[in-house]
Amino acid sequence: MISLYDYIKKDWSVAGNVSSKLIIFDLDDTIINTTAEINIVKNNEVIKTISNSEFNTYELKPGESFDFSQFDDPKILFKERFTRYWNTLKREYNRGTHISIITARNDASMIREFFLRNGIDIKQELVFAVSSPDFMYQGTIAQKKAKVIKLLSRLGYNTMIFFDDNEQNLKAAKKLENKNLKIHTIKV
Ligand SMILES: [Mg+2]
Repeated sequence: MISLYDYIKKDWSVAGNVSSKLIIFDLDDTIINTTAEINIVKNNEVIKTISNSEFNTYELKPGESFDFSQFDDPKILFKERFTRYWNTLKREYNRGTHISIITARNDASMIREFFLRNGIDIKQELVFAVSSPDFMYQGTIAQKKAKVIKLLSRLGYNTMIFFDDNEQNLKAAKKLENKNLKIHTIKV
């Protein structure tokens, strides 16, 4: 069986160009000011709702679980407003810089569609939704994002810029740096 790595390495270009430089963006509270909220559920009832930024530090109490259904609703996503980093993304896109989205959401095709509707065509293979149930890696969000970044480095990207609002995600990525791989992390 052919590995995912071999599969994508076969034809690794974006709009016909190869590159050793890649810019990676998180989505929620990095490119968009996320209004989708997370429900806290206990005994099958929503007991409270928290914002995406509150989620970064929320600790579940006994019997509680998260419900992310608002993040799966395209009607909410397609109406979200952009942060100022949207301009960074657009500028780099127009220069032909390779761009990747690595998000804790679970539907990569919905995210690609969101960017397409806004005039940005990101290669589907460079959109990673790490909470997808069939995602190739296990672990925390930060660990999964770091594993994706490691895969991307094996594809030939040796200079990366990574924008994320979550400190853990940035720290995990920064640890991958070595003499052949530079990762410039930017806290949004
Ligand atoms: Mg985020």
